[in-house]
Amino acid sequence: MINKEIMESKNGKLNVGRRQALKTFGLSSAAFLAGGLGNYSSAQANSQGTLQKPPAGLPPIKIKSVKAIGVKSNPEGRGSNLVVVKVETTEPGLYGLGCATFTQRAEAVVTGIDRYLNDFCVGRDADNIEDMWQSAYVSSYWRNGPVLNNGLSGLDQALWDIKGKRANMPVYQLLGGKCRFAVDTYTSVGAATPEEVADKVLKEMESGQRHVRIQLGGYGGVGTIGTKPDFKEAGFGMPNDSFMDDQAYLRAVPKIFEGVRKKCGEEIELLHDIHERCQPIDVINLCRKLEEYRPFIIEDPLSPENTHWWKQLRESTTVPFAMGELFNNVNEFLQPMVNHYFDYIRIHVSQMGGITPCMKVARLGEWFNVKTVWHGPGDVSPVGHSAQAHMDLATWNFGLQEGGGVFSDFLRELFPGCCTKKNGYIIVNDLPGLGIDIDEKMAAKYPISNNAGNWTVRKRDGTIIRP
Ligand code: MG
Repeated sequence: MINKEIMESKNGKLNVGRRQALKTFGLSSAAFLAGGLGNYSSAQANSQGTLQKPPAGLPPIKIKSVKAIGVKSNPEGRGSNLVVVKVETTEPGLYGLGCATFTQRAEAVVTGIDRYLNDFCVGRDADNIEDMWQSAYVSSYWRNGPVLNNGLSGLDQALWDIKGKRANMPVYQLLGGKCRFAVDTYTSVGAATPEEVADKVLKEMESGQRHVRIQLGGYGGVGTIGTKPDFKEAGFGMPNDSFMDDQAYLRAVPKIFEGVRKKCGEEIELLHDIHERCQPIDVINLCRKLEEYRPFIIEDPLSPENTHWWKQLRESTTVPFAMGELFNNVNEFLQPMVNHYFDYIRIHVSQMGGITPCMKVARLGEWFNVKTVWHGPGDVSPVGHSAQAHMDLATWNFGLQEGGGVFSDFLRELFPGCCTKKNGYIIVNDLPGLGIDIDEKMAAKYPISNNAGNWTVRKRDGTIIRP
């Protein structure tokens, strides 16, 4: 509902009056619109709500502050620890937002932003995004890991948001403009039996989805099939550690594909995430069995420790692969691309440091016929989903987008301007920047914690399984 009136445009022009925009975003978000439009009078919407060209030669602005806003994605029960960065500028009311969500270590990211990144950024030029990214990347001498990369991502996305507001353009325009009218997506379903999975796929097809990722039971087949976890009876590990019987999983996945193909037909495109948890030689055998079901993408077949198996895997099967979710640095994508080891780059955008590095990987993919599938589950904030959708719109070699566009009422209230979804497509609003805001007063009521669930998975005897 929130974006419906904004989204309905004619001839590609934005039809959002200022009154409607304020109504849509609520009084608490008036500053967002003021920051985006109010200080550049000739750039404001005219009486018909059609945006005008921004004035040439905008005045320089500096970064005034960088802070983290942590908020639970779900007010009740288990939810992700979302972290959003807010960058304020010397231009009154003008600020930007970016996603820095690393749900498993969210408090560490918040500390990195508030205790390091703020000091590093204050007084610097808010317009020089590339210089800011490069200097933050190497200023500690040692390269960033996931904690600092997420902080850098929040900064980077916020600076793109600010630049879009200054230019009075959506970020996708700054990235080159639209390559497509909307962003095609896949959604995920999981159940313990082929029949249940097939029923869920049918429901997704009825809602307009053309691509569905089919999973077995708990994510990656964890804990729902196979033999009993002997380590628990022995009192080994922690009581809430998960159990995975990888051989039972390997036997079951082809049956899930067979059951879904029988019930749902050939029209639907099917994906599956191995989640890096199996031995490489087992992965090869599994992928060969899956070929007859024509998977659209097999995701994350190898753990980061097993990347030396890529050549053998690629030469052993014809299924398309997506990879990279656990990579820490954009340089890790170069050799796999040069060698055509996988078909889709799979990046958690905040993990890599934001829009700036990810667009470089995406553009590099164009030269090697590798497409994008940005990581988009619930541990990407709605700000991050907006950033991804803007990149998707402007990337020629876009492949598919995970998730995005479907948010709870809670998240839509918390993040005015969320993307919407229709017929399987993500649609972004055409407001300047990333087109999204956060209600900070509301966020303060739902603080993050160090509890992001237990991500430990063990074999029957208690051995840790690497994702
Ligand atoms: Mg994955």
